[in-house]
Amino acid sequence: MTTFSITGLEEHEAALRAALFENAGIEGAAYVLFREAQMTNDPWDRRRHTKLLVREVIPIQSVSADGMHVTWDTVSYVALLQRAQREELILGIAHSHPKGPAEFSAQDDANEAELLRTACNRNGAAAKLVSLLFSGDGTVLARVWQYPQHQSTVRSVMFIGERIQFHRPDAAPASAAFARQILAFGPTLIHQLKNFRIGVIGAGGTGSATAPLLARAGVGQILIVDDDIVEITNLNRLHGATQMDADAMRPKAEVVAREVARMALGARVLPLRGWVSAPDVRDALKACDVIFCCTDDHAGRVFLNRLAYYYLIPVFDMGLAMAVAEPPVAGMADISARVTTVMPPEACLLCRGAVDVEVAREEDLRRQEPTEYERRKREAYVRGEGNPNPAVVTFTTEVACMAVNEFLNRIVGFRKRNMGFEIRRRFLFSEDRATTARPRHTCPVCGVRDAWGLGDTDPFLDIVG
Ligand SMILES: [Zn+2]
Ligand SMILES: [Zn+2]
Repeated sequence: MTTFSITGLEEHEAALRAALFENAGIEGAAYVLFREAQMTNDPWDRRRHTKLLVREVIPIQSVSADGMHVTWDTVSYVALLQRAQREELILGIAHSHPKGPAEFSAQDDANEAELLRTACNRNGAAAKLVSLLFSGDGTVLARVWQYPQHQSTVRSVMFIGERIQFHRPDAAPASAAFARQILAFGPTLIHQLKNFRIGVIGAGGTGSATAPLLARAGVGQILIVDDDIVEITNLNRLHGATQMDADAMRPKAEVVAREVARMALGARVLPLRGWVSAPDVRDALKACDVIFCCTDDHAGRVFLNRLAYYYLIPVFDMGLAMAVAEPPVAGMADISARVTTVMPPEACLLCRGAVDVEVAREEDLRRQEPTEYERRKREAYVRGEGNPNPAVVTFTTEVACMAVNEFLNRIVGFRKRNMGFEIRRRFLFSEDRATTARPRHTCPVCGVRDAWGLGDTDPFLDIVG
């Protein structure tokens, strides 16, 4: 058994709606081309998971629609099958039921079985056919056909952008624990959150606040990745951590997972001790719908930045700056927090100047070749770690709240003012600012469309090691 999920961009959703609901009350259709992301061991299902990433939507022009069902023109279909094989794409079809029902019809079953047969005859028995159904009531369903007649339901269909739309077929009643949140945002949000798979990268001050906030908001699956252990100097800000954890040198990821599990709100939490770019963390990361980047190192950010574009996984990146004024001036020179939503087609962290590529390289070297790193440090070729940064729990926690609210806003849209994709809070002046940036067209991550939703590549993320 394989789990399937679909992710596309807001622009793909808009193109689909335009094609599918072009003539009021009449069924419309489009082709959809996907790239694949394969996970051999999804950490939640413990089985294969294939994520289908939308690359292109092609409206179908010459389709005969009688208001009841659409028929497919074989010539254009076969031409696209040819292209799919050449470019390693998966071909899908999308159609609408403007007046319902919000389910596939017997006619759809017959049409799609025929289309699968054509696909297998042309491209071999391993060919798949993806089918998306948009209903007039807003329901979006999808399924995947495989040889000879096997259909798998797609677990979720997500479109990302200004808003995050998350469609998931089954609706179980929410726990009474969420009654007061439902008063604010209604029952749909809680149903969506229950089905989200969210990665929290870094279980320090911000991560240890972010994961419990997500669980209390109703998120059903949380992955926590960190390779550090609890130390005494973390206890001023690491939510849930105790002196005993520090004495026992417990991994931070496990401590934060323990605190989330203790809530018993139904969240499944998975701690992974390891470095974010390690090969054994890959499948778990790819399986996430959304990621919160709570690490303060640059190498981790550079890596997640790429992952966001290749796999269409929105990354909520947090940054906190605390700088003490130079004597004789007393007090703080700066306390500011930043939350950036990293995803196509917006500017990436590199183009926003939010990461220092030089520092990222030094961090990679320190981790991969510690002896060489020490040698270069002695000879002053690398800058070294320097003094630890100031850290105060109220600010690390506040940036976590900002990021989780940013995520919630993308789902429910509570904000009256559009803050774009980066918000900066300047604590010394009690103000929030929206900061904007454009992708540099030379940027290999956000500047060219090729990378967006490219999915699996060899080497992974096109990073030459
Ligand atoms: Zn239909
Ligand atoms: Zn960029």
